[in-house]
Amino acid sequence: MSFTMSRFSWKEVERHQLDRDKALAGWDEVNLGYLTFEEAKAEADRCLQCGTPYCQEGCPNHNPIRDFIGLIQEGRLIDAALLDWEANPLASCTGRVCAWERQCEGYCVVINHGDPIRIGTLERFMGDYALQHLDEIDLSSFKGEATGQRVAVVGAGPAGLAAAWFLARKGYDVTIFESWYLYGGVMAYGIPEYVLPQRIIDLEVEKLLRLGVKVRTGVRVGKDVTIKELMERDGFDAVFIATGANQPATPGVPGEDLPGVWTAKDFLMRATEELLSREYGLPVKEPVHVGDRVLIVGAGDTAMDAARTSLRLGAKDVIVAYRRTEEMAPSRPIEIEHVKHEGGRFMYLVNPTRFIADESGKLCAVELIRMELGEPDRSGRPRVQPVPGSEFQIPVDTAILAVGYKPERDLADSTEGLEVANWGGIIVDRYGQTSLPGVFAAGDCVTGAKTVVHAIYAARKACEGLHNYLMAKRLEREGAARHEALLLSAAAAS
Ligand SMILES: Cc1cc2nc3c(=O)[nH]c(=O)nc-3n(C[C@H](O)[C@H](O)[C@H](O)COP(=O)(O)OP(=O)(O)OC[C@H]3O[C@@H](n4cnc5c(N)ncnc54)[C@H](O)[C@@H]3O)c2cc1C
Repeated sequence: MSFTMSRFSWKEVERHQLDRDKALAGWDEVNLGYLTFEEAKAEADRCLQCGTPYCQEGCPNHNPIRDFIGLIQEGRLIDAALLDWEANPLASCTGRVCAWERQCEGYCVVINHGDPIRIGTLERFMGDYALQHLDEIDLSSFKGEATGQRVAVVGAGPAGLAAAWFLARKGYDVTIFESWYLYGGVMAYGIPEYVLPQRIIDLEVEKLLRLGVKVRTGVRVGKDVTIKELMERDGFDAVFIATGANQPATPGVPGEDLPGVWTAKDFLMRATEELLSREYGLPVKEPVHVGDRVLIVGAGDTAMDAARTSLRLGAKDVIVAYRRTEEMAPSRPIEIEHVKHEGGRFMYLVNPTRFIADESGKLCAVELIRMELGEPDRSGRPRVQPVPGSEFQIPVDTAILAVGYKPERDLADSTEGLEVANWGGIIVDRYGQTSLPGVFAAGDCVTGAKTVVHAIYAARKACEGLHNYLMAKRLEREGAARHEALLLSAAAAS
């Protein structure tokens, strides 16, 4: 089955979103999804229930899409969600943030006859329904028989939360250690409220708490407690590292550390802290002032979030500058449309060459150079190269750098024997185990910056490895105990 980029239908989305003025007036979620069961069922009923569900092939986590849509067709929303949770415990999150156009929906055969089935919107609808009815759901069938073994999960992003879910289901006693105040990792401090509200992440975590998972926020492993201490002093039998890739990259041009130049991570995090400070008791820092003119460098999801957040903070002219073309932008197409719809504009085939300060030392302009597409590189993607002498300047009050992330090195630096690649990624074997026995890792900290659904899948796979490791330990321990008992009874008998 070949992949077709699902046609982006703004009309379809428009039907379910806040109008522009309302969207820009606050931080409310813009996409509203299906508003009634009838609407969701009408969409589910278009699904052909294919013998071979190619949509599942297109999903990086291979969610049971055909079967959960079949259950929605029958009106069994909670059963549908429970089925999805078997593979994907964060359905209400992925139902909001996945790049369906390139994944499940891009593989839906209905695409050949018009619009593909809106799989993401259906997943979100049934996931939200189940979260709203958590009290009616018996999660005990999800909880495995207690093994008596304890696992520490480091990081409460999608990889850590998913790992906690899969491990609790196998009967492990799981504690998550998270360095920030909120759960969700980048889903909480990177992806803004108007895309994925924190209350949804909190409900997903509530599900984990009901399985007996414990969560400790404000603990930075490597600084407040080491992995060695967790294992040797605190009695954890294994550790699962899911610390993400949160060290922002920068383009490396002069002036990028001027006041007024932000990394997207710091900018989005600060905006979230400000927004949620009262509700969650977060420390209030200085408010973010972006001024009237904002330039964002990059064209991934992070850049689109930075653009939309700048518009909500009052910027009048927001420009997203990207060195390639719109078709080559890594962002989800829907996010680009949201930026346009909310009043942002785009400049393609340009790259910053320097950030310029005024007499007070603050950023006042960006110099850009025009780029052109050249011969394809080894991956087949055209190279981009600067057009000599094409530099030009535009005045700005704020510049936001959204050009990528890599893993932070502090945990590796404080953990003797934990091997990392040159770029900072934790090295694991095919079972997800690091160079340290009993220490597993998955998500962006292993692969580099990817997506929520990739982090969930990686965690699921690594949890299988961790489970096998702990099962072997258990058998070894039981075998040794049995052997000792046999020796004792033999000694007593003689
Ligand atoms: C702004 C932005 C927008 C994005 N938009 C999308 C999108 O629309 N769709 C999509 O699919 N993906 C998106 N992504 C990517 C996606 O969010 C990430 O790929 C995903 O969150 C990775 O999950 P993770 O669990 O591996 O890491 P993270 O989400 O980074 O979580 C890691 C967690 O570990 C914690 N931590 C780190 N070090 C320690 C330590 N030493 N001790 C304790 N805790 C620690 C961190 O505080 C964090 O909570 C976006 C990324 C960004 C930055």
